[in-house]
Amino acid sequence: MNSNFSPEGNSVVEFVVDTVGTGHFDDWQNEREFRENIRTGKPYFNTPPPVKPAKQHNPSQLNQCHRKIYYRQLNAPDERESPDGIFWTGTKFEEEVAMPYLEAVVRGQGYVRNSMWVDYTLDTEHGDIRIRGETDPVIVDSESRPLLLTEIKTKRSVDHLTAPNEHHVAQLFAYMEGLSREWETEVREGLVIYGDRTNLSIKPFFIRFDSKRWDELVIRWAESHTEYRLNEELPPAAPEFPWECEFCSYRHRCGQSDETHHKDLGPDGILPGIDYPEERIVEYLRANPNYKLLPSLATVFPDLTDEFQVHDWVCEACPSTTPYDSHPTGQTMQQCPHCRERGVCASLQDPEPEVQKSLAAERSHD
Ligand code: SF4
Repeated sequence: MNSNFSPEGNSVVEFVVDTVGTGHFDDWQNEREFRENIRTGKPYFNTPPPVKPAKQHNPSQLNQCHRKIYYRQLNAPDERESPDGIFWTGTKFEEEVAMPYLEAVVRGQGYVRNSMWVDYTLDTEHGDIRIRGETDPVIVDSESRPLLLTEIKTKRSVDHLTAPNEHHVAQLFAYMEGLSREWETEVREGLVIYGDRTNLSIKPFFIRFDSKRWDELVIRWAESHTEYRLNEELPPAAPEFPWECEFCSYRHRCGQSDETHHKDLGPDGILPGIDYPEERIVEYLRANPNYKLLPSLATVFPDLTDEFQVHDWVCEACPSTTPYDSHPTGQTMQQCPHCRERGVCASLQDPEPEVQKSLAAERSHD
């Protein structure tokens, strides 16, 4: 708030100036999203997402780092803020720029549907694998039969793009196959259209279905991923494209960050020593009610202790535990009182994810 601004004598101005702020805006925005999800028939976005079935894949996840998608499908806690602004821009670009543009292009020759659902199964050596998802705008005929698919994405800049991302091609292939089956016609062509978030220009790429690439990008990826899920095996940290790690929400858990000692961890539990955004911790604990808040996070986000239980501190040297609130306010670490009595200097720590997991399993049986 600008302290030089004085709304003296004007109660409306004073009220607005006093009210507008980060916390108030966040509350308003959350409430608005909640209502919007109900209005658009998607109330499930207002509750914690369920663990995705092992044999079901969304086209938008195909051909990405198996480990990242494994974490995401099993709802590991995100280590970064949700990129809501990018999602919002993407939706607005599609609705308010791409759709009107496509409608103008096909006017008199066809129509544009904003999306179509695909839901089909692939017969693989792991049995049936389900592909389910919703397309971006589709050019259709007067009977709403699909003619040409589009996949709309935004990027900070499209200036230097020379080819579409492979996983966007995989996504388009998966939709082509689904619509071809559903409508008993050949839908084998599409456009990946990148929108520039800086200047709103576009760069389109024409894509034709290719059965060899379909096998590589969709079938093999879906088979491998299903195998990891069915075997409950953490996939290797081997993204096809290194840039995936830069934007990944699980860098610490995976071991791609120099800032922590964590490496190759499974999807369960909260990592000690990570600056999680508060909303991500809330999401995780609501989705996993047998898990508790870490004591260090209870210190950072004390309001969360009204809703969630908190783990005790664990000692780095002895098997004792200490209640989370037995240290001075504002400190996240203190000496183990049991060790101190014996003249040993040992720190209290957050429980590691494996400990959290076994305690959560015990609670689930209570
Ligand atoms: S950090 Fe990289 S390797 Fe690890 S899960 Fe993320 S994308 Fe995959």
